[in-house]
Amino acid sequence: MIKADRKEVLRYLGYRGSQPSAEMTEMISDCIRQLEEAIVPAFVYRRFPVVFHDDGTMDIADMHIRSEGLFRNLKGCSAVYMTACTIGPGCDRLIRRAEVTSMSRAAVFQAAGSAMAEDLCDRVNEEIRIREEKEGNVLRPRFSPGYGDLPLELQRDFMRILNMSKECGITLTDTLLMIPSKSVTAFIGAAACQGDAQQGCDACAERADCIYSYREEL
Ligand code: SF4
Repeated sequence: MIKADRKEVLRYLGYRGSQPSAEMTEMISDCIRQLEEAIVPAFVYRRFPVVFHDDGTMDIADMHIRSEGLFRNLKGCSAVYMTACTIGPGCDRLIRRAEVTSMSRAAVFQAAGSAMAEDLCDRVNEEIRIREEKEGNVLRPRFSPGYGDLPLELQRDFMRILNMSKECGITLTDTLLMIPSKSVTAFIGAAACQGDAQQGCDACAERADCIYSYREEL
């Protein structure tokens, strides 16, 4: 079952180190309970080869992409997944209803919905990780359109290539916002591991010399 990590919910609500009141704690629990009944998680992903060009561009599926950030993230990968996840329209309905009577309750639905969408992304990530581990591959961190220099316009390509509206009920506004709002698209690269893919790069002794590991600062 999709969960809302309470620490994440508090972080989204702006609590940094401070504790919420008993009343707020109760409101968070109640909103999470309502969300658990209202959400309908759905996701889709596809795996594509990635081709790197000397000018810093990449070909993925039928897209030609220019982004230094994504190039750095995917460098050394032989394949890339395009993924889309959503917790469905129920969260948006609860937010809209709460906005009429209590903005703080609406904010809690916003925060808990985001935490649940994040949890769904983590689960899909894990499913892909297990698949790739069998092939001796490790995964790179998720990289979403709109992050860094990766154009948000790629949302249109995600919609088309993943058939997102049919596969998981996600549509796009003219301003490239996804509906339902608690939806996430991302690239996830897969790179060959020369060591033990099961342990992952973070715990690997070879990491400093490994050209397949990914470090943000590179
Ligand atoms: S750092 Fe280790 S686990 Fe990561 S890809 Fe390299 S060899 Fe594999």
